[in-house]
Amino acid sequence: MEYLKKHIRDVYDFPKKGIVFKDLTTLFKEPRGLHIIGWDLSQLYRDKGITKVVGIESRGFIGGSILAFELGAGFVPVRKPGKLPADTIKMSYDKEYGTDTIEIHRDAITEDDIVVIHDDVLATGGTMAAAYDLVKSMKPKKIYINFIIELTALNGRAALPADAEVTSLISF
Ligand code: AMP
Repeated sequence: MEYLKKHIRDVYDFPKKGIVFKDLTTLFKEPRGLHIIGWDLSQLYRDKGITKVVGIESRGFIGGSILAFELGAGFVPVRKPGKLPADTIKMSYDKEYGTDTIEIHRDAITEDDIVVIHDDVLATGGTMAAAYDLVKSMKPKKIYINFIIELTALNGRAALPADAEVTSLISF
């Protein structure tokens, strides 16, 4: 954990004033960092029978792909509107200002799947809550929620469904 924490960079006032952005590129660029992330994330789900890892655009694609590879599972992207080429289902959610929408391919998840939804950082939880609803509407057997980093002061867990199993590697 010390290695991971040491290689996560705090960027002040990004993307806007007052935000301390947790930058994981400084961890991912280290071969050892990438290896530890893959190993530590996969250890959380080894015995769960995971068939699909859903990664949230765009920073969730990196850890999500590594996790899927380590578990021998498939990878499914959740993207911003208009990016996925085939038939999609959508979910809109409230942000600080206005609303946002995310999409997933309609045929990406089946009722036989056991799914982990992954994003890099849990902040307010709004994005993950919408991704959870999106995946849930496809009726998989079970859904787990995973982050590399959890920003505990923002209490994002309160925005996530009470029955969801939420795990993060590192808390700040
Ligand atoms: P949320 O507020 O939980 O819906 O977060 C929205 C998205 O922005 C998520 O994909 C997070 O990974 C990202 N995000 C929010 N706050 C931060 C932060 N302080 N550092 C890095 N990423 C963040």
